[in-house]
Amino acid sequence: MGTFVYVMASEDKIDVGGLVGGGHRHLLVDRRIVLEPFEGLAFPEPAAVRLELRAADGLLEIGGTIDVEYRGECDRCLGGVVRGLHLDVMERLDPAESARRDPFGESNVLAGSRLDVADLAAQLVCSAVPFGLLCTPNCKGLCQVCGENKNQGACACVPENGDERGELKVEDPAQ
Ligand SMILES: [Zn+2]
Ligand SMILES: [Zn+2]
Repeated sequence: MGTFVYVMASEDKIDVGGLVGGGHRHLLVDRRIVLEPFEGLAFPEPAAVRLELRAADGLLEIGGTIDVEYRGECDRCLGGVVRGLHLDVMERLDPAESARRDPFGESNVLAGSRLDVADLAAQLVCSAVPFGLLCTPNCKGLCQVCGENKNQGACACVPENGDERGELKVEDPAQ
């Protein structure tokens, strides 16, 4: 089949010029990439990024997977939450379009023939992590009067018919 070229460069930026120009057919990328904290989430371990790049109809086609663990706070009780994220990647980038674009523009995942794998991974992960992290779907949160964690038992405060005068009361649709 195709010629496989294994990219094990220490650089996060990969020259895809030969690929798009037809010199070879695949580039395999297997890298650990450190992600910066994002919206209150931290990534304690580098993301495992495994991608196959190939040229298709003048486009750069990127398939593969990204796996990373993220940590954050439960939106309701502020307890620590650790989750794993698995992403199936299927992206198509247009090298011709990226060549026309402002090289100092915001989206520079592909700048000319240089693919910034770290930036790509960061953008994909940040758009995939869920908003509103909860420790469990029916986390009871903190008492709005005394601040006690209601998952750990009832506090001394007496709610009046469940009305806690707050907007934070969320019915669990599963019940
Ligand atoms: Zn919680
Ligand atoms: Zn209370």
